[in-house]
Amino acid sequence: MTNGKKQTASKAIITATAVIDSQALLANYQQIKRLAPQSKILAVLKANSYGHGLTRIAKLLAKNTGVDAFGVARLGEALSLRAAGIVQPIVLLEGVFNPDDLPVVAVNDLQIIIHNQEQMDALLDASPLKLFYKQIKVWLKIDTGMHRLGIASKDFDKFYQQIQLSINVDTPLTLMTHLACADDQKDDTTKRQLALFEQLTNQLKDPKSCANSAAICAWPQSHYDWLRPGLMLYGVSPLAGADDDENQSATTLGLRPVMTLQASLIALRQVKAGESVGYGANWTSKHNTTIGIIAIGYGDGYPRHAENGTPVLINGRIVPLVGRVSMDMITVDLGKQGIDNIGDIATLWGKGLPVEIIAKHASTIPYELLCNIKSRVQIKEI
Ligand SMILES: *Cc1c(COP(=O)(O)O)cnc(C)c1O
Repeated sequence: MTNGKKQTASKAIITATAVIDSQALLANYQQIKRLAPQSKILAVLKANSYGHGLTRIAKLLAKNTGVDAFGVARLGEALSLRAAGIVQPIVLLEGVFNPDDLPVVAVNDLQIIIHNQEQMDALLDASPLKLFYKQIKVWLKIDTGMHRLGIASKDFDKFYQQIQLSINVDTPLTLMTHLACADDQKDDTTKRQLALFEQLTNQLKDPKSCANSAAICAWPQSHYDWLRPGLMLYGVSPLAGADDDENQSATTLGLRPVMTLQASLIALRQVKAGESVGYGANWTSKHNTTIGIIAIGYGDGYPRHAENGTPVLINGRIVPLVGRVSMDMITVDLGKQGIDNIGDIATLWGKGLPVEIIAKHASTIPYELLCNIKSRVQIKEI
């Protein structure tokens, strides 16, 4: 009551916030189950659960689903899960990088992939005493054509026989391979890889695993005993063309985005036709308009290479990103009739604005955008 002017309560401003929708995660898990009811699920949690929080996602799945195992890329990730009380099997998807890690694997009841001779020798040569007389579960990885990790197909029989005999190994093994082109149904590579895998392993009773998210969605013949979903668990389409082909979209696949990235408008300003905005003055307005400044930037993980025109969702409409992405801020063109106020919340990706589309505008893939989320981003689990 100080000056007689009408007071409107100012909205609280939120800086970059990742809203994590736990129900969406569980629904995506159930959708994977529907696609392959006979297969077990190893949920892939590497890179901080694709930016969603390593232990948060592990606990949600462990508590609310029958998830069969977790997969990570680094020993440290596995140890964080154990420290958080996760008791499910955990698989190191690239195995150990150092023989001294084997006792740590044994004592923490981790499982390892073996993909080359060095890893095989380290396991077979380890003294049982050093492994506390524990037998380690092994996933034997065969290179069927990706030519990254995996033993050559010609060496498979030799590895298989040798590993069976080791006192350090808990049999049966799991036999696995990784597909290079599963996101593209028109590419023949997947058919060749699956045929080779089948030929090498069809006489063997050991459980088998081939399918990442794309294969789960597009190649039912790859499902076998163990699925290894990463991206689709987080509600993102793993298929090529997901950014502009409805048939390949997450919605069509029955997936819901788990992360919605948001931040508030922190300032509004008028610019005239011919005035430029931001570092390098690399965008110049063609009209008189209102520019909105939003509290998110590359310091939060929003991609610096997002181009002019990258969509941002605010007050129910899409507006274009204009000017360069800064460390802590981005600028958008709200248009002449600004209906927006300081404090209004913009969505950068997630519900209502698929990250697949943003990735396209930033010349990258959804995987990279998600796992680039920085630690200063607030997390709000709903
Ligand atoms: C990362 C990874 C996956 C998961 O891949 P998505 O495409 O995210 O489903 C599966 N298997 C292995 C071996 C991986 O490294």
